[in-house]
Amino acid sequence: MEEQLKTLAAMQKLDDKIGRYRTLQEELPKQLNEINERVEEATANLLAGESHKAEINKQQRALENDIKQYQEQIKKYAHQLNEIKTNKEYKALNSEIAYLKDKISEIESQLLSLMEEENQAIEINKDLKAKLDEAEANKRAKEGDLKAQIAELEIQVERTRAERNKLAKTLPVPLIKRYGNLIKNKDNLAVVYNRDGSCGGCGFVLRQQMRIELQLRKKIIYCENCGRIIVEKDFIDE
Ligand SMILES: [Zn+2]
Repeated sequence: MEEQLKTLAAMQKLDDKIGRYRTLQEELPKQLNEINERVEEATANLLAGESHKAEINKQQRALENDIKQYQEQIKKYAHQLNEIKTNKEYKALNSEIAYLKDKISEIESQLLSLMEEENQAIEINKDLKAKLDEAEANKRAKEGDLKAQIAELEIQVERTRAERNKLAKTLPVPLIKRYGNLIKNKDNLAVVYNRDGSCGGCGFVLRQQMRIELQLRKKIIYCENCGRIIVEKDFIDE
């Protein structure tokens, strides 16, 4: 009987291991996703930054074009000034020229603030590019390793499961079934230890009679509350 209890405790240890692998099997793909998401996010941010700068450049070109047209117009008016006969016409044309010159200087100050905006955008984009490079470097550094770990985990789970099944074969079939059901239904925890007179799984206080039986190690003790197999602590520590 003591041999069976030891086997059960050893099987639980292996199932604990499988449980940790299973947690990693859920965790590692998440890490992989995070790495990829960071690259995607950095790419999107940089694209948005570049399109903002392109928008500024477009405005600059449009305003520069306006200035060119006004300058052409001014040239034309200046030429007409030579052919003007009356003082009144001369004044009117001159004020038209002055108006266009004002317009040009207004646009020039708009261009100045656009230039500032452009410089800011350039700085921001440099920063966004650096962040993208960083995210891509992080991906290069970790992706392969994570994928290898994920593949390796499945192998380790299989190996550990085989080891556990080998142990299980030494036990009576009903006991294996009971153990299997506990693993499946009780949070991967079938064998627990007597924790200062309570079930190590659910905390249920053990009757005096059960505590004595536990020490005798002549039969398998099940928790009256959760049904888990209870063993003395030294079985699990061995
Ligand atoms: Zn219990």
